Amino acid sequence: MELRVVDHPLVAHKLTVLRDEATPSPTFRQLTEELVTLLAYEATREIRVVECRVRTPLTETAGVALERPRPLVVPILRAGLGMLEGMTRLMPTAEVGFVGMVRDEETLRPTTYAERLPDDLTGRQCYVLDPMLATGGTLAAAVQFLVKRGADHITAICLLAAPEGIEALTRLLDDLHVPCLLVVAAVDERLNEVGYILPGLGDAGDRLYGVV
Ligand code: URA
Repeated sequence: MELRVVDHPLVAHKLTVLRDEATPSPTFRQLTEELVTLLAYEATREIRVVECRVRTPLTETAGVALERPRPLVVPILRAGLGMLEGMTRLMPTAEVGFVGMVRDEETLRPTTYAERLPDDLTGRQCYVLDPMLATGGTLAAAVQFLVKRGADHITAICLLAAPEGIEALTRLLDDLHVPCLLVVAAVDERLNEVGYILPGLGDAGDRLYGVV
């Protein structure tokens, strides 16, 4: 798995405001979208394109179009939903699938409670959205799910990652033999004893949508 930490002053600035406990939900949602668009720019460097011709008002020239089948964006519910708009703003023609996963707060293991994805993902580039890479279990389960359906290139986009999560994800995806890229705004210090990222930004789902 390749790790790409996006080093840009605007990314660092937006992340700082997201970390701030005083930032209210509407601002948090807006900034998450903006930050994801910046991350998506780096995350889509390997997106597949085909050459095409385009007619300008003056002449004809060479261009590129997104290759078919179209890329698939997969937010992991609930918190990944807050990243969807920022991603589709950059790739409006991408298709969107959904995976609902929740982690057991005691065992920290993920279970799938909802799934809406094409049955056949052969030849698809998939972009998985999950704001917090903590233990890595949820993201690894989602990636394994997509690869089982035929996806042959996976990019995971997270706002923050813990070193423990990156290590676990690398180990869990090691024998997949499908290129995996992880794009993050920052790698934080560590996980606390209940699996939250430190210094982190708290519970991303709660900060986006409130406590339910
Ligand atoms: N999920 C979150 O929302 N925050 C964390 O710090 C870890 C997992």
